[in-house]
Amino acid sequence: MANPKLTLAVHKLTSCSGCQLAFLNQGPALLELLEEVAFLHFIEAGIEGPDQQVDVAFVEGSVSTPEDLERARTLRRNSRLVVTIGACATSGGIQALRNMADGPAWQAAIYARPDFIDTLATSTGVAEHIKVDFELWGCPITVEQMRHFLRQLRLGVQPRPEAEKLCMECKRRQQVCVMVTRGAPCLGPVVRTGCGALCPAFGRACYGCFGPSEQPNCDSLANRFAGLGLVPDDIARRFAAIHSHSAPFREQSRRWQRIDVRELDE
Ligand code: SF4
Ligand code: SF4
Repeated sequence: MANPKLTLAVHKLTSCSGCQLAFLNQGPALLELLEEVAFLHFIEAGIEGPDQQVDVAFVEGSVSTPEDLERARTLRRNSRLVVTIGACATSGGIQALRNMADGPAWQAAIYARPDFIDTLATSTGVAEHIKVDFELWGCPITVEQMRHFLRQLRLGVQPRPEAEKLCMECKRRQQVCVMVTRGAPCLGPVVRTGCGALCPAFGRACYGCFGPSEQPNCDSLANRFAGLGLVPDDIARRFAAIHSHSAPFREQSRRWQRIDVRELDE
């Protein structure tokens, strides 16, 4: 008798759905995949079954509303493995920028009826609320990442997290360093690889889609940015972007928000 198919669910919390497209963008490989796996819930593909029991649940999106929190707890109970995909699910994503601001004041300034808005006080990654077995970082994750992970899953291989720094990939591709040659404030030395060093390939500084690498030396890089002439507010903003709520980047943006530009001249 043939092995039963691996059952998968793809859940969406607060997100733009861009990471779910990494599944759909696999092209013909998706058809091959369907010979071995069965999607029981994947709303972007028109399959609805949010409370199904599955082998692996992929989760896109941050926990930003009471419904997100409830969904996260339920899917954890219904899944053998939980895998977060993308910046929103791994560190809160771009919507976590509100964690650094006065949320109720913004709501009152923007919405005619702020009392209609029901959110949690913060937007956070899924692992802050439930046990997560594996994380795929990126904004969005890439088709290659997804293919690689699914291949390991189907072969029964323990997946290894990608933690290498982007600079390594950039150098292997023999790209000209934008920080060394043009003084551009590139986050490559503290960001995990995965994008193929896309921005440096087009002469642009990395702005950190794939989140902090293993043991990032953010203090040193931020000091280098100051040496390049960035004022403290600009340095804080380099770290307060897509992964602003990840611990090393959050610490750095807070540190530089507190520094007055005059202190750098002393
Ligand atoms: S990580 Fe980026 S692409 Fe993925 S859902 Fe969040 S905002 Fe969209
Ligand atoms: S361009 Fe950026 S990622 Fe590439 S080597 Fe220079 S600092 Fe590192």
